[in-house]
Order: sequence, then structure tokens, then C-alpha cells
Amino acid sequence: MKRIVVFLFIIQLSMSSIDLYAIEKAESTWKAGVATVNITPVEPILLAGYASRSEPATGKLTELWAKALFIEDAKGKTAVLITSDLLGIPKAISDRIRDRLKKDYGLAREQIMFNTSHTHTGPVLPNALVDIYDINSVQKRLIAEYSVILEKKIVEVVGIAMKAKTPARIFSQNGVARFQVNRINNKEATLSEQTELRGPNDFAVPVLKVVNASDDKLIAVSFGYSCHTTVLSSNEWSGDYAGFAQIEIEKAYPGVTAMFFQCTGADQNPLPRRTVGLAKQYGKTLSAAVERVLEEEMRELSPQLSTNYSEIELKLSTPPTKADLIKTKSESTGYVVRWASRMLDTIEKGEPLQKSYKAYPVQVWKLGEQAMVSLGGEVVIEYSINVKKLLGPETFVLGYTNDVMAYIPSLRILNDGGYEGETSQMVYGLPSKWDPSIEDTILKEVARLAEGIKIPVRKQNSVNK
Ligand SMILES: [Zn+2]
Repeated sequence: MKRIVVFLFIIQLSMSSIDLYAIEKAESTWKAGVATVNITPVEPILLAGYASRSEPATGKLTELWAKALFIEDAKGKTAVLITSDLLGIPKAISDRIRDRLKKDYGLAREQIMFNTSHTHTGPVLPNALVDIYDINSVQKRLIAEYSVILEKKIVEVVGIAMKAKTPARIFSQNGVARFQVNRINNKEATLSEQTELRGPNDFAVPVLKVVNASDDKLIAVSFGYSCHTTVLSSNEWSGDYAGFAQIEIEKAYPGVTAMFFQCTGADQNPLPRRTVGLAKQYGKTLSAAVERVLEEEMRELSPQLSTNYSEIELKLSTPPTKADLIKTKSESTGYVVRWASRMLDTIEKGEPLQKSYKAYPVQVWKLGEQAMVSLGGEVVIEYSINVKKLLGPETFVLGYTNDVMAYIPSLRILNDGGYEGETSQMVYGLPSKWDPSIEDTILKEVARLAEGIKIPVRKQNSVNK
């Protein structure tokens, strides 16, 4: 009898250790879910990104999409990456969406990375680049109505991605594609005569691969590139080269969801450009770079997620005086007149012109061994280069994320002036260029947030040397 009891005890002991092993194995993986929603406008509304294009959309070349990748680590910590075929996301819309994600799903700002592809064949959104478009009352209504639908769809797609979560393995790696051209240091008009191109550049193609833990089936591929999505400027909706790249990847891997995130392409153009053929060519180039990475060995990421986020104040330089604005207004045409008039109206009302941007978003994620940084605005390539000096060359650096309020020039580009350093501030409705402290302020915040989630940071003084 005693022997039987001991025997049963041993069986029970070994059973429970098997159970424990199974539980531990289940808990030691990522979980991930992905979802997609079509955001192509139904109504003929204005296309975003060019002051010169005054007619609304006439049709579509590709659909426009918003996509969500939800991830959960072994301890239940969660985050969502949202990608979208939009020019940018104004703060008011982004805040409403992110507030809703907090309310409905408990996702805080630090857990949400909301990227826009910067396609110039997407819809105009309310209160974005206000002075460059000549918007009539019909368009105003259509744009407002579209925005309400868009916000609802993006919140819903995150919910669907959360519900779809399944045990997963996640991998990362950088590939390479070289169609970005530094548009400040190379002239588009005479490009074919140039025998060499001038930088700076960052040709990285960051890739995240998500596979089902049970059968290694590909679920999602999220990838980025630093380059303006400005091959096309027609009146047909399209995701530009990034849209074609996603189509190519989804064709090559049936059942997968391909998601594009814009990196730091504010001073990079796809050159030459302006034909559908070229948009497809760059799309195929980018998808080929992603496919190469997927087919080679990638780094598997430990199922540990950390997220950090802040909003910082970025100073603007001294605003123009009333006399400056009157002079500008009388000497200019088009959107510059609208900008100067709006600034003068503000002064007339006795209100001060804006002296800073109060809530510039900076975000750092750590997915296992992979650091991922996101910045708001149209971020120039030197931020990618300098963030990689701080956090390592394999870091993923996204721009155009969470809020797109202006160009974000490096100190060098700010001092050189030009469109990215100075005049684009008018396009975005800001009174003056950024203060020279901009680059240092942002990089210091990236370093501080990275240290906060235990990403090793190299000394700040190594930047810009
Ligand atoms: Zn741009």
C-alpha cells in the first residue's frame, strides 16, 4: 500500500512539472495580431501635400490602408504599431485617436506608435498645412466628414488586431535599398548629368517579421524606408511607391499583412519621379530588399517589451514683426499671402505669435534586443544617422509618427535655410523657423528615454563628430 502511494505521488509530481513546463513555454513567447482597414475616401476630396493641386481626386490607382500590429510580450506588456497611407497626422486627430485607444483598450501614449507614410496622393485632413490649400465650404465639409470616419476606422482596426493575437515569434533585421536621393544636395532638374550623388543618406530598410509560434507561418511584415512618398502627384488616390511595395510583398507571401512605416525621409526624394512606372519600380526595389531580409537569417527577439514616451517643448526663433508681415504679404502670392494674413490677424487680435511647439512627441521602444525610436514631424536623415550613433547602427528610426507639425531640420540644415530649414514653416502655419537648440534637444530626449528602458546609450558628445 505504502509503495502504491509513493508511486502515485511520483506520477502526480511529474504531471505537475509537465504542466508547469507547458505553461512556462506558452508564457515565454510573444503574442501578436494584425489587422487592416481600407481608408480610401469614397467622396472626391482634395489630395494632400501640394499647394498647386486644386482639383479633388478623380479616381484611385491603389487603395489606401491603415494597418495595426498589436504585440504582447511574455509578461503581458503590450504595444501597437499603426501604419497608414496618409500625408501626416495632425495633433488634434492623433490625440483623439490615442485618447480613444486609452479609453477603449487601456493603451497609453507610450504603447502607441502611429506612423504615416507621407503619401502625397492621400486625402487632406482638417487643420493640416492650413495655408497651402484653397479649401471651399464643400471641401471643408467633406474633409471633416472623412476625418470622423478615419478616426473611427483606426480605433476599430486596433481592436481587431488585439482580438487576433496569437502566440508568435518576432524577428528583426536591416536590409538596404538605394533609391533615395538627398534632394537638398542634388538638383532634380540636372540629375541625369550627375556622375555621382551627394549625401548624407541612410539606405537602411528596417524589417520586423512576425510568424505564428506553432507553425512559423508568416503573419506580418513591417518595414520602413527614409524617402518622400512623392513619385506621384496626380489626382488619383495611391500609396505611392510604399503602397506598391506592400502590394508586392503581399503577392509574394499570400496571407501576410505588409505594413510600411516612413522613416526620416524629409530631405530625401525618390528620383527621378512622376510616373506610375517609377512608383512601381521603387515599390519593387523596396519589396525586393524586404524579401531578401526575410529569406536570410534574422535576429529573433526575446519576448520582452519596454516602451517610453514623452512630449517636449521645442523653441521657435524670434517671430516676424507686424512690419515684416505686411512687407511679405505685399511682395508674395498664393499660400505665403494666406500665411502672412493669418499671422497679421493674430497680431490684430492682440494675441502673441507662437514662440514654441509645446508637445513634440519622442518615443523609444525596446522589442527584445531591437531598439525602435519614433519622432514627430518631417524628420531629416541626419536624425537617423545621429540616433544610430547614440543607440547603435541597427536601431530603427521612424519619423512622421504620432504628430506631424512641421519639418524637423538638423542644426546644419536649419542654418542653411532653404525649404526644409526655413520656408516650410509657413507651409505648416508656424510663425518662424526653429531655434538652433532643436537637434540637441531632441537627441538628448531620445537618449533620456532610451536610458529609462535600459537601452545602452553612447556619450552625447560623440554625436556630430
Ligand atoms: Zn514632405
